[in-house]
Amino acid sequence: MILVMKQNATEENIKKIIETVHSCGLKTHLSTGESLTIIGVIGDKKKLLEKNPGLFPGVERIIQVSESYKLANKKFKAEPSVYDIDGVKIGGDNFCMIAGPCAIESKEQILEAAQCVKKAGANILRGGAYKPRTSPYSFQGLEEKGLEYMKEAGEKTGLKIVSEVTSIEALNTAKDYVDILQIGARNMQNFELLKAAGKADIPVILKRGLCATIDEWLNAAEYIMSEGNERVILCERGIRTFETSTRNTLDISAVPVLKSKTHLPVIIDPSHASGVREYIAPLSRAAVAAGSDGLIIEVHPHPECALSDGAQSLNPTDFENLCAELKPFISLMGRK
Ligand code: PEP
Ligand code: MN
Repeated sequence: MILVMKQNATEENIKKIIETVHSCGLKTHLSTGESLTIIGVIGDKKKLLEKNPGLFPGVERIIQVSESYKLANKKFKAEPSVYDIDGVKIGGDNFCMIAGPCAIESKEQILEAAQCVKKAGANILRGGAYKPRTSPYSFQGLEEKGLEYMKEAGEKTGLKIVSEVTSIEALNTAKDYVDILQIGARNMQNFELLKAAGKADIPVILKRGLCATIDEWLNAAEYIMSEGNERVILCERGIRTFETSTRNTLDISAVPVLKSKTHLPVIIDPSHASGVREYIAPLSRAAVAAGSDGLIIEVHPHPECALSDGAQSLNPTDFENLCAELKPFISLMGRK
């Protein structure tokens, strides 16, 4: 349930409502926007309505929220969420470019990757240290050593860094190294991991599960947010369909659908969505046009030698050309 406050509602009105709601054992979420102040009520609202059947002073109207996700719901917060990570902004009218290799393979490789994606215009470096590989015999990642190399590459280039965590243990290690945590498609419904990410004070990129509906995905975001960490970024990375020409099928419609349901930033991963290097550029253009808040793209200094996902990785030159090509599209969409 949401209480929309009148324009002339006082601080005292708001304070009183919050106190009453809490006294019924329910939680509140206050959102003070430029034009609208709204108080979200989370929990069994019957208790509150029994205690206070009418409208509270200062309340203009009550909106019922039928969706099970509340904090992620646009009805709870009308303005788009924007996160400022030491000057790098995600969401709102900002467009973020995240790029780097699928996996951190060595100190030299991640530094070379960082330098080339920085030169092309990326502001965040990606790289996996804990790799959720389909086969147990494939390269599993350098774990903490990889995070050390990546942190060093981030510091040398001034790029923020993001890396995936596949377990609570990995999360506890990674949070001392990275600026953004990533929870991958395979773990989108690992609820214990989501709750642990909710207790960390770091933004989280939450990728869409391979077969997850948008509602399941938003509920996964709610798991993180309900633990206190509201800085979630949703990443569409393709879903499983009957189509085999691409690794997954990019659900471009997820962008406008999410924009109508949530205030959380939405980014696109054309690399895992397609699995094919030559499709990255057209899918990136589509992402910008659909209103995505950014892209996350796999770039490897030498894709032919990559230990994972070489076939979908761009080389530095192709990535630089793509960034240059996307620039006017990004401006056209009113993004910086
Ligand atoms: C990745 O980003 O390296 C990754 C494994 O992605 P996903 O979880 O989308 O498969
Ligand atoms: Mn990958």
